[in-house]
Amino acid sequence: MGKVQGIIKGNKAERELNFSGKLYLPEIFKGMWFTFSQMFRKSVTLEYPEVKPVMGPEFRGRPVLVAEEGKERCVACGLCARACPPLAISMQAAEITDDQKERYPERFEIDMLRCIYCGFCEEVCPEEAIVMSPEYDYNFQDRKDAIYGKDKLVVDKELLKPRLDFLEDRRNRNFGKVYDFEESNNIHTLRNRDEVMKHAPHDEEHH
Ligand code: SF4
Ligand code: SF4
Repeated sequence: MGKVQGIIKGNKAERELNFSGKLYLPEIFKGMWFTFSQMFRKSVTLEYPEVKPVMGPEFRGRPVLVAEEGKERCVACGLCARACPPLAISMQAAEITDDQKERYPERFEIDMLRCIYCGFCEEVCPEEAIVMSPEYDYNFQDRKDAIYGKDKLVVDKELLKPRLDFLEDRRNRNFGKVYDFEESNNIHTLRNRDEVMKHAPHDEEHH
């Protein structure tokens, strides 16, 4: 106890008051002037939730499925579900017969109570079919409501353009430079693979 008191007493720089401090009122006016001067500065806070901040393309909000011409790009490969650390994604694949895509997700669900917004699903997706949207403001009354199905997940690509452009600009800048990328390698989702391979440039032509 004696030791603690000694430390407090010894902290003279903090305790000693100058003449103006001893008069007390000048210090109060200084404090009030500082407060008053801040009132005319531009506010840096928002009155959320009445005022909602608009998030930039770098923001990772809830993951959504990208749709083109009304159809999701997803080919139900399952990579995102594998990469998802809290196992928030589940899906059921089905075959398509009248499209170049062989598969699509008949069911696709993300448990939003599990999602940690890590963006791994977006990173691993070979089709750029799942991206992080700017949406962050949602709530649930029931745990079941937190499981989002395709009705809530599928979003048209035009609405996701800022994020898609951001990804195009920032992601995999070395893609095709470090690895000898060939278009013909990227046809794993095509039904007519043999036909495409016939017209694909052969390895010898590249070397
Ligand atoms: S953002 Fe992360 S946690 Fe959320 S669904 Fe994607 S991989 Fe899973
Ligand atoms: S990784 Fe992409 S294409 Fe594969 S299941 Fe997930 S969203 Fe669909």
